[in-house]
Amino acid sequence: MSIVTPFLSIPMLALMLLPTMSVGSTLYVPHVRVRHAALEPFLREAIEKSITTRKMVATLDASDVIVYLELLPRMPGSLPAGLGFAGSGGRFRYLRIALNPTNTRRQMMAMIGHELQHAVEIAAEPTIRSRRDLQKHYKRIGIAGAVDDMWDTEAARDTGRLVSREVKRSAEIARGRGTVDPPIEKPF
Ligand SMILES: [Zn+2]
Repeated sequence: MSIVTPFLSIPMLALMLLPTMSVGSTLYVPHVRVRHAALEPFLREAIEKSITTRKMVATLDASDVIVYLELLPRMPGSLPAGLGFAGSGGRFRYLRIALNPTNTRRQMMAMIGHELQHAVEIAAEPTIRSRRDLQKHYKRIGIAGAVDDMWDTEAARDTGRLVSREVKRSAEIARGRGTVDPPIEKPF
């Protein structure tokens, strides 16, 4: 839901050691990564069913920002999700997206969308290179949350809702209840 900073303590080393994948002869280094396998189906489904998610992942893949998704059982204030700065090293900046394991499936995908939008916002601001920079930036541009050191943006809220709608619509089309393109009429 918000830009949250205080609960981040995973050592950077663990983040740095994740392998890159080699697809054929092309080296593919995904910038949106999952730290807990239980989150993988949600990310995969969001990418598959939501064009907005696909665009954000492509934007992040082309950026210097690497994002890790993880489950955090004790989210501050029982929030559904949060994002924090994990560090910067070499060419890359690292972010963590924490997701509450009690979220429903739809909520999980909406929150992934919401937090990826924050990651895109940060990718567009190369001056954010530390937790303090992140706090300063969102203090300036964000909406203050109910808890200290927590901010949000309208863009992220809108993106979360949009991803949720895209996932729902995709499921409706799959069940044959949604409208796809009108049928092509025969010329005679
Ligand atoms: Zn937010």
